[in-house]
Amino acid sequence: MNYKNKFPIFSNIENHYLDTAATSQKPKVVLDKIREYYEKYNGNPGRGSHKLSVEAQSLLSNARECVRKFINAKRAEEVIFTKNTTESINLVAYTYGMNFISENDEIILGISNHHANIVPWQFVAKQKKAKLKYIYLTENGQFDLEDLKSKISDRTKIVAISAVVNVTGVIQPIKEIIEIAHSKNALVLVDAAQSMLHFKHDVQELDADFLVFSGHKIFAPMGIGVMYGKKEILDKMPPFLYGGDMIEFVTEQESTFAQLPNKFEGGTQNVEGAVTLEEAIKFICEIGYEKIEKIEENLANKALEELNKLDFVETYFTKDVERTGVIAFNVIGVHSHDVAFILDSFDVAVRSGHHCAQPLMKYIGVASCCRASFSIYNDESDIQKLIEGLLKVKEVFKL
Ligand code: PMP
Repeated sequence: MNYKNKFPIFSNIENHYLDTAATSQKPKVVLDKIREYYEKYNGNPGRGSHKLSVEAQSLLSNARECVRKFINAKRAEEVIFTKNTTESINLVAYTYGMNFISENDEIILGISNHHANIVPWQFVAKQKKAKLKYIYLTENGQFDLEDLKSKISDRTKIVAISAVVNVTGVIQPIKEIIEIAHSKNALVLVDAAQSMLHFKHDVQELDADFLVFSGHKIFAPMGIGVMYGKKEILDKMPPFLYGGDMIEFVTEQESTFAQLPNKFEGGTQNVEGAVTLEEAIKFICEIGYEKIEKIEENLANKALEELNKLDFVETYFTKDVERTGVIAFNVIGVHSHDVAFILDSFDVAVRSGHHCAQPLMKYIGVASCCRASFSIYNDESDIQKLIEGLLKVKEVFKL
C-alpha cells in the first residue's frame, strides 16, 4: 500500500517522481488548507484588533504549538518560523555566530554538509577570524566520531551537522555527536532538512541546541521553515531581521526588542505556510513514521537490488549503513546530467549534479552523481521505469 492517491499531482501528470529529497509533493489536505486559509481567515497577524488579524495570530500560535509537539520542544517560543533551512542556519550564523565566536575559536562542520550548512559558517569564520574544521567519513559514509573526538577542543564553539546526508541518505550519529560536543561545551546545530520526513526528532532527548528544517521537504509548501533553539541560548542572541513586529518600543534613535518568538520574526509572517506546515505535520503523524520508513526502506532496497544487477551502474554508500530511502548512483562513464535527461524522457525525475555538496563530492572523488529518493507515493512501477530508463542510457551511450 502506498499513498499516491493522496497526492493530486499524480492524477494530473505522468511522473515517476524520485526527487523527494529535493522537494516533496503535496497531499490534497495541504493543498485544500492553502485555499481554506485564504478563503476564510486571511489577515495580518499581530497588527490589528479586528477579527481576521486576531484569527491569523491564533492560527500562527496553533501552528507553532503543533511544531513544538512534533519536535518535543519544551516551549512554543523556542520555535521560530523562517523561510527555509537556509534562512534558519543564516539566522544562527548571523546572531549566535557573529556575537559569540571570536578570533581563533573553532567551528566544526561535517564534510558531508549541504552548502547551506557550510557557506554561512565560512562567512562567520572569515569575519571573526575563527577556524573551520571538517570531520570526515568512515568507510561506510558515516560521520567519523573518532575524527570528531580528535579535532574538537576547548575553542570549539559550535558543531554544525546534517542529521541525514542529502546526497547519500546516510543517517548520522547525532546523539553521539551532541554528547561529544557538549563535553567540550560546544553547541550543536542539527540540520534536519533531510531527516525530518523519515524519523522522529525529539530535541529534548537529543539535547540539540539548534535544529532546523524546511517545510517543503515534509509535504508542506515552499516558503516556510523552522529554527528551533533552546530558550536560554535564543534569549542571549540579538535579533536577525530588524523591522516591524520584532520590537517592544521604538524611539527616534533607539529600539528595544520583543520577547521570543517575535524577536526573530521581523515583518509579516507566512501564516499560510505555518498553517499548512501544521497540516503536513498532522498528515505525517496520522500515517506514522514507522509506516513511512517501511515504505521507503522496501522501495530503496528493491531499487538497489535492481540497480546492482546493472554492471554499468555504480552506487555510493549503500552497504552496511543506516540510510533513508535515497540512492546515489552513476552510470559509469556518463555524466549524471545526461543520465537524468534521458531518465526524464521516461518521466523519471531524479536529481543530478553535485547536490549542493561540493566538499563531499571532492572528498569522495566523484564529480557528480544521480540521486533517486523514494517516498510514500512511490511504488514498484517507479523502479521499473528507472531501470528501463537506465537501459536506454546504456543503449544510447553504447556501454
Ligand atoms: N540542508 C540539507 C541537508 C538539504 O538537503 C537542503 C536542501 N537540499 C538544505 C539544507 C537547504 O534547504 P532549503 O533549500 O530548503 O533551504
